[in-house]
Amino acid sequence: MALTFLSVSNLPLLNLTAQFQQAYGYRPTVIARAPGRVEFIGNHTDYNGGAVLGAAIDRYVTVAAAPNAMGHFRLHSTSGAKPMDLAAVPAGRLTGADSWANYPLGVWRSIGDFKLPQPAGFDLLVDSDLPGGAGLSSSAALELSTALAFLELAGAAPLAPERLAALGRHAENDYVGVPCGILDQGTSAFGRAGQLVHIDCRGPKFSRVPLPAGTHLWIFNTKEKHALIDGLYATRHRECLSAAQTLGVALLADLTPAQLDKIGAPGGRALPPKIARRAKHIVEEHARVHDTVEALQRGDLATVGRLLTASHRSSQHLFENSTPGLDRLVDLLEKHPAVYGARLTGGGFGGAVMALAGDAFTAADAEAIAAQSGSHPEIIHLLSADGAAVVWKG
Ligand code: ADP
Ligand code: MG
Repeated sequence: MALTFLSVSNLPLLNLTAQFQQAYGYRPTVIARAPGRVEFIGNHTDYNGGAVLGAAIDRYVTVAAAPNAMGHFRLHSTSGAKPMDLAAVPAGRLTGADSWANYPLGVWRSIGDFKLPQPAGFDLLVDSDLPGGAGLSSSAALELSTALAFLELAGAAPLAPERLAALGRHAENDYVGVPCGILDQGTSAFGRAGQLVHIDCRGPKFSRVPLPAGTHLWIFNTKEKHALIDGLYATRHRECLSAAQTLGVALLADLTPAQLDKIGAPGGRALPPKIARRAKHIVEEHARVHDTVEALQRGDLATVGRLLTASHRSSQHLFENSTPGLDRLVDLLEKHPAVYGARLTGGGFGGAVMALAGDAFTAADAEAIAAQSGSHPEIIHLLSADGAAVVWKG
């Protein structure tokens, strides 16, 4: 195999090429990959016009592709998802075992919506080492890797990361039907090893913040999910919008904690107590993202850790989107001398805790904490990583 352009280790690419050859009988012409992401801090801030910090992680969706000479759209995944061969891209959304194809086909259609050149047909193989169900955003990684591969097949000029993120989000919102914010695609597009991605969700505006060396991300995925999670998410959304309306602002992130304390703090008269707790969580969380950026810029990991744990306590007591299992993990992690801080990551109501730890924190430490927690979490050790890119062209 001639390697004309290579930015990642050789072996996985050779493997993927062999798998593509097995599926389609010839070699791919492009390989692209995109990282998953962790929500570092910024809990439910996105739809409140606030900021969020994400980390692109060293687990990826990698796709190999080539133009299909018949103009067909063929899809394979090493995950065991149903292989497909379509003569045309269907107008409607696919369901059941076909539904995974909504991601690559939605990306193909989004490329058209963005007035960019689409390949007339393609053969696609999807591979991933992102664990499912851990909230690490395999969907955005699938969208961005696929978009880069398709644009390469069509001979398009390189796309700016803002546009790539917007295109992936458009595919997920409009063609998969998931009303996600910009965190997942923005972090996967802008990620950089040794940095975090700061997103001002109002623009959205993207920037990068250094993550000091010797820091590790550890995920403890309890896999517990609240049965009513969609309803609870919608309820929180409604509560936040109602608080903003009563307080006379468009979105809660328009308020500073001092302003909120004056007009709408819990115990005050402007808001019912529960709504006041929700508002306090969002307004203070938005401020915590800002404080975290400043602490990162100073290299002050002790303060970063305190802010992470404070974010969790706010979820636990004010936003009430934590669970006893997640709280117990944070309690244990907080006490470990090599852990800077820990918090629930993602929407909450179950799911995973993220800890920021130093080099001294080992897999044995993580296993001991997992055993004490009683919730049998899956442990995933992650480092920050570079964003979506074409990694090989034949
Ligand atoms: P996540 O938090 O991982 O983004 P989502 O539910 O948003 O979870 O997206 C997961 C969906 O993305 C899967 O159900 C599947 O349809 C698609 N997907 C992700 N990775 C792969 C893969 N390797 N092969 C096929 N489909 C995938
Ligand atoms: Mg997703």
